[in-house]
Amino acid sequence: MWISERSILVRTLTAALAGGTLLAVSGCSTLRSDAKALMDFGDRHGESTVFRGLGESDGYLPSGTSLSPFDAVHPALTNLDPALRAALRSAAADAQEDGIRMVVTSGWRSAPYQKSLLDNAVRTYASEDEARRWVNTPERSTHVSGDAVDIGPTDADSWLAQHGERYGLCQTYANEMWHFELATVPGGSCPAQIDDASVG
Ligand SMILES: [Zn+2]
Repeated sequence: MWISERSILVRTLTAALAGGTLLAVSGCSTLRSDAKALMDFGDRHGESTVFRGLGESDGYLPSGTSLSPFDAVHPALTNLDPALRAALRSAAADAQEDGIRMVVTSGWRSAPYQKSLLDNAVRTYASEDEARRWVNTPERSTHVSGDAVDIGPTDADSWLAQHGERYGLCQTYANEMWHFELATVPGGSCPAQIDDASVG
């Protein structure tokens, strides 16, 4: 299973690079592209085995894959706070009306999955402080509590940054344009962003 997932990842990345559409395929912002490219490099070169043993029941989504906000099966979505999930679906439907297709690149995560992401980031950056700017601890992560979603691709991130307040959805970290939480009431004002995950 690991081997087949890895070959899918390599094929996806190869196709994406060949087509010059890495950002669109991975649903990453420029900043995320930097972080993710480093992690994907680690995966491709067999340096990262930290995700071995993780599966759907952890909310695990292999790199380069995503879910429809309307998916009703995958724990990454079914274990989200129901109010967040409803707000997300409402936003996704309206974005679709504007010609924007919204996908979920990460949602609820188990604590072991979050720990694996942090371990992988520490390895990638060779710095715990830098890793913590991008990946929170299992104890603090709002993904683990079911209160956060990562959205892609970039045009959907931009749409949601612009219109999210209608649904109560806010970009909470200044360095993660893809990360949204239900942080105000529908039609309310989003709180000031915090710099990064190491602060919050
Ligand atoms: Zn996130």
